[in-house]
Amino acid sequence: MIDSHAHLTFKHFRSDLGDVLARAREAGVRAIVNIGFDLASSEAGVRLAHQHDDIFAVVGVHPHDAETVDAAVLERLEVLADDPKVVAIGEIGLDYYRDLSPRHVQERVFRDQIALARKKDLPVVIHDRDAHTKVMQILKEEGVSRGVLHCFSGDFGIARQGLDLGLYLSFAGPVTYGGSRAADIIPKVPAERIMVETDCPYLTPVPFRGKRNEPAYVKYVLERVGEIMGTAAADVDRLTEANTSRCFGLGSGA
Ligand SMILES: [Zn+2]
Repeated sequence: MIDSHAHLTFKHFRSDLGDVLARAREAGVRAIVNIGFDLASSEAGVRLAHQHDDIFAVVGVHPHDAETVDAAVLERLEVLADDPKVVAIGEIGLDYYRDLSPRHVQERVFRDQIALARKKDLPVVIHDRDAHTKVMQILKEEGVSRGVLHCFSGDFGIARQGLDLGLYLSFAGPVTYGGSRAADIIPKVPAERIMVETDCPYLTPVPFRGKRNEPAYVKYVLERVGEIMGTAAADVDRLTEANTSRCFGLGSGA
């Protein structure tokens, strides 16, 4: 299994990251893609990736923190992006649910980081919360064709637009919750475009919902996706590992 989206540098893991990683490896997680949220977590993610062969880093600033991005931050991200363990720019996008940064700032910073990904020939990890139409508009205008819509929460119309651009769709803990739209969407998504993730420490899948999430629990997401697809978990495992490796260019070593 590969956890395609984890936040291991968050304070939630400060006291026991070693145990968390041991449980992930024990559960069969062969690689973890650690995602930056702001400049500090991006820097920390690159350091962490250098300490562990099975951890890769994605660097970028989340729309919540878009207001912190100035020229100096973009320059620093550009330096980080050259690191051999950095496999994408993210997570970037728009969040109209919490609106923690003004929307015009979120949009500018989203476009700036897409430009960075293009310059560095890297895919993007996209966060989209209640901003589906605008996110799609920007992705099309910017000509984005490589990356993943993480923790996909749109309807199939949005999924279709993402797939047409060439993007992957990644599913997280909410697929295990009642009322998830995933059961309608996943069967229509080409199998070679599906990825799984935890988004830990958040979005903990059933049966651990309410507790802290961790990469070992990607197993529950994978099993539920397999159930919806009507495909054995072992096959979904192979498939999603291959998809994630292709998306991020992890190579055969991952
Ligand atoms: Zn995330």
